[in-house]
Amino acid sequence: MKSHGYAAHDAKSALVPFDFERREPGPKDVVVEIAYCGICHSDIHQARNEWNQSIYPMVPGHEIVGHVSAVGAEVTRFKVGDRAGVGVMVDSCRVCPNCKANAEPYCEKGMVGTYNAKDYDGNLMFGGYANNIVVDERYVHTISPKLDLAAVAPLLCAGITTYSPLKHWKVGPGTKVGVVGLGGLGHLGLKFAHAMGAYVVQFTTSESKIADAKKLGADEVVITKNADEMAKHAGTLDFILDCVSAPHDLNEYLNLLRLNGVLCLVGLPEVPLPVAPFAIVANRRSLSGSMIGGMAETQEMLDYCAEKGIVSDIELTTVDKLEEAYARVVKADVKYRFVIDLASLKK
Ligand code: NAP
Ligand code: ZN
Ligand code: ZN
Repeated sequence: MKSHGYAAHDAKSALVPFDFERREPGPKDVVVEIAYCGICHSDIHQARNEWNQSIYPMVPGHEIVGHVSAVGAEVTRFKVGDRAGVGVMVDSCRVCPNCKANAEPYCEKGMVGTYNAKDYDGNLMFGGYANNIVVDERYVHTISPKLDLAAVAPLLCAGITTYSPLKHWKVGPGTKVGVVGLGGLGHLGLKFAHAMGAYVVQFTTSESKIADAKKLGADEVVITKNADEMAKHAGTLDFILDCVSAPHDLNEYLNLLRLNGVLCLVGLPEVPLPVAPFAIVANRRSLSGSMIGGMAETQEMLDYCAEKGIVSDIELTTVDKLEEAYARVVKADVKYRFVIDLASLKK
């Protein structure tokens, strides 16, 4: 099937218009005409080969929303015209214990990523900075008509990546939660932790974000360079969700955890982050990590957002301004997620 989008051809150059082919839709496939796609920091890490695993040409984008334009004969959950969302993965083996436990991101065969990945037949996958996408309906999500479609897009990656660990570690009333980094992931982590009933402390390097953090649900905001503000929370947090995209000192945050506290990394800086043994031995702390979430949990998160009226705070942008958007994300200067209006592809 013919597709058109924007691609990176190497780690250094700007993304440029790109014509390519996707597979012909099969009986279980849904074709989504893409309306909006979020810009995740992972798009930038990968377009610029910061994780040393990039495959070019690369059409980034895994926060995809739009409308169904065609369905295969065996598709049961979608019809033409329906809203649909596609996130970070588009296939998995479906039979391993992790897939069977609805934990498809941890598929033993390896999940098939939406882009910068090959499917099980070896075909290169292309993401959502494009006019359309073909995906097996098992990996497509339904979206409530109650929510603003553009503002839903970031839920497909940033939303589920923060919702899943907050649920896994049972954040709720009576827990004191720290969210580190107020970016795309962080601002949704903050909204979710607040909505789940936790007491939330937002950690940020940006003084300009203090007022927003409070509006988004933070009970307290800490400017991380102020040692006395950090020290005030030493040994008191039950759970910390670390959403920082760049290298930073984990030990400063580990020291804030109480007995049995957990620091969960969702941010993926490109270098190892040293851990001081004393920082985890004290208070029997745990350092963990988490990926997106399974298909069922992603749908649960989208339905929870419809019920609670949660969406991303977004800045709409266009395909001709990708470089500017990337530069601003890297500077932590976006409130709080860029979303590409794919109607701009037609111009
Ligand atoms: P983002 O919008 O750029 O947010 C990152 C935030 O980190 C910034 O807003 C900033 O917050 C803080 N930050 C940036 N540079 C920093 C530095 N040098 N020191 C301290 N803090 C800094 O990125 P995102 O899209 O939310 O993604 C965050 C990370 O999660 C990325 O590494 C991304 O690849 C990763 N990710 C992982 C998964 C997963 O499955 N685990 C899924 C999606 C994304 P303040 O201004 O508040 O300090
Ligand atoms: Zn992402
Ligand atoms: Zn599997």
